Amino acid sequence: MNANSMVGDPVTTRSARNRKRSQRRQIFCPIHGCFLDSVSPKYPLFADSAGQLQVRGMGIKTSRLVMSAYKVVPLVGEWIEEFWCSECQESKWYHIHKIGERNYEVKVAKDDLWQNASKVVNPHQNPSVSEYTFRASRGYSAYGVKGFAALR
Ligand SMILES: [Zn+2]
Repeated sequence: MNANSMVGDPVTTRSARNRKRSQRRQIFCPIHGCFLDSVSPKYPLFADSAGQLQVRGMGIKTSRLVMSAYKVVPLVGEWIEEFWCSECQESKWYHIHKIGERNYEVKVAKDDLWQNASKVVNPHQNPSVSEYTFRASRGYSAYGVKGFAALR
């Protein structure tokens, strides 16, 4: 044992602290600005129309090509997740969009988003959801996260 091991390696100490801090994601209530507590898994989102890709910045031509080839594509960094807000005193489903390393865009999920989420039981009873999930999972494996990110 040498003297250095007594005081601890500064690099190790710093990385341990970073790991701890990143455990709590910076996701805040859009109304109150307070921390939201996750009460559900993440449900990844998929696009099934060229328009959904266009509003996310993909060109008209490219988005139509992608849709005709793959039918459904994963929306990288977007998902639906249920959170509890202690100020709202209720839990709600939110549409989360990860922007950069630590920033998240948080919106209350609209009903039609459920059609684009995988493995989701729609609380509003959409009958086409199981069929959709099947198509989405096929599109996901055929296309992959990497390929979609490269096209943007
Ligand atoms: Zn709130």
